[in-house]
Amino acid sequence: MAIIISGKELSLQKKEQMKALVATFLAKYGRLPKLSVILVGNNPASVSYVTGKGKSCVEIGMINETIRLDENITQDELLKKIDELNKDDSVDGILVQLPLPKHIDSNCVINAIVPEKDVDGFHPQNVASLYLKQKGTLPCTPKGIIQVLDSKNITIEGKRAVVVGRSNIVGLPVAKLLLDRNATVTVAHSKTSNLTEVCKEADILIAAVGKARFITADMVKDGAVVIDVGVNRDENTGKLCGDVDFDNVKEKASYITKVPGGIGPMTISCLMENTIECFLAHVGGNK
Ligand code: NDP
Repeated sequence: MAIIISGKELSLQKKEQMKALVATFLAKYGRLPKLSVILVGNNPASVSYVTGKGKSCVEIGMINETIRLDENITQDELLKKIDELNKDDSVDGILVQLPLPKHIDSNCVINAIVPEKDVDGFHPQNVASLYLKQKGTLPCTPKGIIQVLDSKNITIEGKRAVVVGRSNIVGLPVAKLLLDRNATVTVAHSKTSNLTEVCKEADILIAAVGKARFITADMVKDGAVVIDVGVNRDENTGKLCGDVDFDNVKEKASYITKVPGGIGPMTISCLMENTIECFLAHVGGNK
């Protein structure tokens, strides 16, 4: 039976540490970090994510500004708002909640945020920094996954890691971070043949698919570490569930994360960490 790694608990510990650090900023730098979040429209999931991010900011003692814009806003108007925030010296981090309405080109919007304020780590310059191992902002979910592994001193070096999913925000960057930590990494996707066999080779299995309970016990090697990134709705109960068939997989894994309470809270705490890092770079301070 696996040990359940609680991302919720770990994120709370991290938040306490950040709160203590932020409490020193006013005296040291004369101001507090400020995160500006742009929400376009009223998508309920996005509203809930943005609310959670704002709440975390306040809990840590940082300043949060949520800018709600009408769903029908033009791309030019949105870009103008981003330009204002880019130029606003009191703003340290800018986040545009995705997905955006269909008439807006998300890439264009992400590219418009100055890399120094891109707390999501999605700007091409930050993506390049990750791949070139240069200083930059790491994307929150992959960063949180590595922190979860490190919190239990799980050895990454020399291990076989399989990442199921190859998105720009989760699958690919977490594969790169695992590679940087000297794992041997396979990235699987919807066209992978013999997915069960591929997954069964994993010492560390990362599920970032977006399909409820997609990873079943027969796909998991005995003693594997299983990290569930998925956030799905159970069709029958309407409750949140992950990409991993938790009840059965936990019997085979050595460590496992849960949904909810796993990678989700870590993503938010890493966003807070990124905001602090952007602030410190902005004011010329050290952590
Ligand atoms: P995407 O939809 O962008 O990517 C899903 C990936 O899964 C794709 O690479 C796709 O392959 C692959 N895939 C789909 N079907 C299969 C299949 N049958 N076999 C193997 N691979 C398959 O999703 P994201 O990466 O954005 O998110 C993944 C999940 O993680 C979602 O549930 C999302 O909600 C959640 N998430 C959670 C976060 C958190 O904070 N906890 C943060 C971000 C995401 P292909 O490329 O071939 O299409």
